[in-house]
Amino acid sequence: MMSTVDVCVIGAGLSGACIARNLASHNKSVLVLDARNRVGGRLLTAAAANADLGGADFGGAWIWPRSEPNMANLLQNLNLQTVPMHMDGISMAYIANGKRHVIPDGQAEMYAACGGGAIRVCGGASRVVSELLEPHSVRLGMRATEIDYNDKKEVKIKCIKMTDKNNANKNDTPTIIKCQAVVLAAPPKVLARTITFLPNLPKQKTESMIATPTWMQEYGKVAVSFPTNWWRQQRMSGISIDHVGAVATWWEACSGSEGDGNLPTLAGFVTEQGAAMLRKVICDDSSYLFEFIIESLKRVYGVDANAMGTLESVASNEIKAQGSSEQDGLIVTNGVITVSYKSWLEDDLTNAKDDTVVDFTCDYGDRDLQSSVEPLFFAGTETSAGAHGHMEGAVIAAERAATEVVEYLSNCT
Ligand SMILES: Cc1cc2nc3c(=O)[nH]c(=O)nc-3n(C[C@H](O)[C@H](O)[C@H](O)COP(=O)(O)OP(=O)(O)OC[C@H]3O[C@@H](n4cnc5c(N)ncnc54)[C@H](O)[C@@H]3O)c2cc1C
Repeated sequence: MMSTVDVCVIGAGLSGACIARNLASHNKSVLVLDARNRVGGRLLTAAAANADLGGADFGGAWIWPRSEPNMANLLQNLNLQTVPMHMDGISMAYIANGKRHVIPDGQAEMYAACGGGAIRVCGGASRVVSELLEPHSVRLGMRATEIDYNDKKEVKIKCIKMTDKNNANKNDTPTIIKCQAVVLAAPPKVLARTITFLPNLPKQKTESMIATPTWMQEYGKVAVSFPTNWWRQQRMSGISIDHVGAVATWWEACSGSEGDGNLPTLAGFVTEQGAAMLRKVICDDSSYLFEFIIESLKRVYGVDANAMGTLESVASNEIKAQGSSEQDGLIVTNGVITVSYKSWLEDDLTNAKDDTVVDFTCDYGDRDLQSSVEPLFFAGTETSAGAHGHMEGAVIAAERAATEVVEYLSNCT
């Protein structure tokens, strides 16, 4: 099967979506490919994956409008509502010696993982991408494996179809997409490790791509939705830090919108160390995640099961698990409380397999990462010189790459 467009964008994350929107406004025909069976990339909202969840974000969540003007403008243009981080009330710290400290009201900002001034998108951050993309211009479950740009006037992209479980469907004939220009809007290291370029990319560029770890690749997030907002009822902010458990820090992560999907929800970061703990917990039976996480919440917040809502009355309910932590999230529920977990560390479209040590000293946004190898152009948040790693960086990189492509195509004609 073949198809022909002006520009093919690889990656339906925030950067790819911004590029597609920009190029379409210049009357270019655009096709956006993504290996996943959903759009958004590292923006993944629990409610989008499962209607029973509270709209928590498993990936990027916070935007700092005072220092991120591109994101602030984008949210305004898309008319998306936002909600400030909830910081009112006492917060908790459970430290290594097994002591729980109560942090007085007014000090949450110092302990919150997001610091001050952060807002979230009502309904979850993945809405930004779904609002940007025209469904007809996106092809999901298609992984680019080879890009042949020997003929600069007609690039050929070989793609394989992925199964629901994000594995290659080996029985399928590869699809070839033909185009005049390609924008690679995915983590540089994943691209360098998983796509064959014909001819090879310049050596220095490949080295720079391989040396650039994907931002936040070593993290995961847990979200827990409850029938009641028990922390607010007890004058707590929902913010806590935990030096002992698998989830290093918690915060309130309700979607912020009225109605469906606005269940009271807490979310928290799982570090690499926490991921190793959770792997042990779920290795025999993934439903063990439920009790493990509820027990850590009881310990950190100093509340009993009753305080969390109706946990005791539903304790006898069957706990059911679905999904997986390395794909779009493992969901474990007893029908009243839902615990979900997504690990980006184990997601091979975010974290190239050989990434074990993260080098925070690498040069995100360096010239080699950004430079085009015409007719190939490079975007994605890691290539941005400003706000690299953040959603803001993904938007800045998209703006730059789209400008380069428009100029290139106008020179071609
Ligand atoms: C846990 C976590 C927390 C974060 N918190 C924040 C935050 O609070 N605020 C903030 O601003 N940012 C945050 N970020 C970062 C933010 O999510 C990213 O900056 C942003 O989403 C990156 O967008 P992108 O389009 O550059 O890349 P991605 O979102 O990674 O998109 C790339 C896409 O390319 C696809 N792809 C890869 N290879 C191929 C291939 N061969 N063929 C087809 N498709 C392919 C992938 O499937 C993916 O969908 C967080 C990230 C994580 C993981």
